Amino acid sequence: MSGIGSADGLGSLSGLGADLTHPRCSRSGCDAAATNTVNWRNPKIHTADRVKVWLACDDHVEYLRDFLEARDFPVLVAPLGTVVSVVPDRSVR
Ligand SMILES: [Zn+2]
Repeated sequence: MSGIGSADGLGSLSGLGADLTHPRCSRSGCDAAATNTVNWRNPKIHTADRVKVWLACDDHVEYLRDFLEARDFPVLVAPLGTVVSVVPDRSVR
């Protein structure tokens, strides 16, 4: 008689952090489903091909855009699912 060790112990795979199936608004405290992406960059530290992405529900897309525009960051709002590769410079004078 020889015992064979159990192969148990393999749990389900984990490690994917971002939930792309149910994206949520980036506004702190907001739990709503995101419907827009707020694409932006900080021209002082990011090159022109760098795009930061926030997610926003319909209620907060204006808030988040205003937040960034108040800092003179280039901002481009797009529908969720749209890939934005470049955020154009704002025409600030
Ligand atoms: Zn929101």
